[in-house]
Amino acid sequence: MQGIGTSPGIGMGKIFLYIEPKIEIQREDIQDIEGELARLEDGMNTAKAEIHNLYENTLEKMGKDKAEIFMAHKMMLEDPEFIDGIKQKISSEGVNAEWAIKETADMFISLFENIEDEYLRARAADLKDVSNRLLRVLLNVESVDLASIDEDSIIVAEDLTPSDTAEMNKDKVVGFITELGGRTSHTSIIARTLEIPAIAGVKDATSSVRHGDYMIIDGSTGEAFINPSEDIIKSYRKKLEDIREFKEKLKSVIGEKTISKDGHRVELAGNIGTPSDIDKVLENDGEGVGLFRTEFLYMDKDRLPTEEEQFNAYREVAEKLGDRPLVIRTLDVGGDKEIPYLNLPKEMNPFLGYRAIRLCLDRVDIFKTQLRAIYRASKYGNIKIMFPMISNIQEVRNAKKIAAEVREELKKENIPFAEDVELGIMVEIPAVAVHSQAFAKEVDFFSLGTNDLIQYTVAVDRGNQTISKLYNQYHPAVLRLIKMTIDNGHKEGIWVGMCGEVAGDEKLIPVLLGMGLDEFSMSASSILKSRYLIKNTSKEEIKSMVDTILDLPTAEDVEEFIDKHILS
Ligand code: PEP
Ligand code: MG
Repeated sequence: MQGIGTSPGIGMGKIFLYIEPKIEIQREDIQDIEGELARLEDGMNTAKAEIHNLYENTLEKMGKDKAEIFMAHKMMLEDPEFIDGIKQKISSEGVNAEWAIKETADMFISLFENIEDEYLRARAADLKDVSNRLLRVLLNVESVDLASIDEDSIIVAEDLTPSDTAEMNKDKVVGFITELGGRTSHTSIIARTLEIPAIAGVKDATSSVRHGDYMIIDGSTGEAFINPSEDIIKSYRKKLEDIREFKEKLKSVIGEKTISKDGHRVELAGNIGTPSDIDKVLENDGEGVGLFRTEFLYMDKDRLPTEEEQFNAYREVAEKLGDRPLVIRTLDVGGDKEIPYLNLPKEMNPFLGYRAIRLCLDRVDIFKTQLRAIYRASKYGNIKIMFPMISNIQEVRNAKKIAAEVREELKKENIPFAEDVELGIMVEIPAVAVHSQAFAKEVDFFSLGTNDLIQYTVAVDRGNQTISKLYNQYHPAVLRLIKMTIDNGHKEGIWVGMCGEVAGDEKLIPVLLGMGLDEFSMSASSILKSRYLIKNTSKEEIKSMVDTILDLPTAEDVEEFIDKHILS
């Protein structure tokens, strides 16, 4: 069985086939309208009480962020459009509550499902979850009890709702397989949070397995084996044991500085998208935040975030980090990140279009509001400001000029801020890497954004599946641009970091160390692994191999060289 691996790791256990009882709804004519409305009210109260319990339970086990979904569910049961729609149907059409719920929910669900925005589309699943709960309560239908799972089990389901994942016995669930969903679906996100291996997008999964059969899943490769041979079981037991041992080893580097085997210090930071992500960075002992993708503050609203809202978000993270650095990147929208309320024109090539700093230098109102919020927060920690998608020197100068104006304004208003906030740029366009010595004279630091740098260097849209094989971080041209940027930064006396995915790539970390990269910023879960790797790597030894690597003709040669001479 093969699907998309959405949460890494290996799970071995019995299949728990999870098929929700089908709820059949019939339309019935009702005489006692008042009685039916009261029955609906009772049902809603019971459903709300259930949701409240799920909220409390999730809050305790998984934290506020993950519990929030149940607040949203409760609000759906209080939403006047939804509830009045149901009541209206009961009163005006004289139908039973169940029918009215189904009709009203179906209408809203199809509305949501036809929206292009992935986030809003996901709300359809929440509404299904809420209305099914209400229907189950009214019809007295018992649901399958995921809390009763008492031996290591892999849940196989069409999809799992937030209620399902909150109710299940997390100590005994060792894997998920779902027919629906992808990397960003609710089940995948929860699986990664709970570190439960998961595979999504397995067509007909529920009809091709038997409850109680033995199964192994590999959430990294997306493979699953039903009733595997002794040999396969043995080899996966060994892999599982290795993973456990490695995790234990990683714990040993918590609290340590990141110093290579031959004594060179680098900084290992985390990337965050929302203020609450900082908790995972701290848990994994990050030495700072090398990239705060602030656009999420703009994307989860239907209007621009106010200065105050942004200030609170930046201050919260800055305070949690104390004197550890926090690099806040100014708004980077456009490309694949849309903000519908800005009504930006559709473009032929959004990745080459009106995005990030290009938009900010044009919409100075938006840019200044953000810079004011960042400067105000700078008093509460060690904040640095980073401009994305810089392509020429004039943009850097304009951005710095606007930042200076903001500082002047704050001074005039007697609003305090830190005077020494460093200003840096992302190096994610080849033109900047090639000409990086000139840029280095203008700024305090560079951070290599390899996600974009790769796509612009090899002319491969980073989101296009058809040509994804051509998107390759080991391409010698990409590595040359990285090396050139680090060298030029150092020539001008500034520090050079990296916040693209390559910073957490286990094969490239030693090479980047050898090239002299000063800061590596990555997803929180990669931090300890990377520290362990750096502690066991000698920088000088790799440094002597860098020229040879850069002279290799192909990406495959680079990978092979690293496997053979560095990682073995
Ligand atoms: C990058 O381009 O490498 C980067 C870190 O920015 P984003 O992925 O947000 O474009
Ligand atoms: Mg980028």
